[in-house]
Amino acid sequence: MRPFAKRNAMTAPESSTLQEEPGQRLDRAAVFLSSLCLLHCLAIPFALLLGPLSGQWLVDTETPVHWLLLAIALPISMIALWRGFRRHRSALTMSLGVSGLLFMFIGVSHVFGESWEIALTVIGVTGLLVAHVRNMLGQHRHD
Ligand SMILES: [Zn+2]
Repeated sequence: MRPFAKRNAMTAPESSTLQEEPGQRLDRAAVFLSSLCLLHCLAIPFALLLGPLSGQWLVDTETPVHWLLLAIALPISMIALWRGFRRHRSALTMSLGVSGLLFMFIGVSHVFGESWEIALTVIGVTGLLVAHVRNMLGQHRHD
């Protein structure tokens, strides 16, 4: 009669065996934020196809959205990547994450002009995403 309670009872023991480390929650938050930004960036060309109005709205909100995402992602990523680094000691994961954030910053601050924002952000966010996935998996030096 109470499907939610039943479902929780069934999934709770399963999820508690995952041995989650505190840093992984930050990793997951960073992955979520990065995916959100990728969707947002990649939606712009489609929105422009659907109609100039919806596309223009995304283009106009692009830079503030990226500043906001960067402001949230920066502390989350630095903490998560540092915690992960102490565990897996992978310089590749760390440098991927740091350069991802750097690309995001260069893109959003329009150092090379506004036309580079989306390209640089997509590259940066993809790097950051890969870094956090590697961080979560706790990969060692295979590189
Ligand atoms: Zn974006």
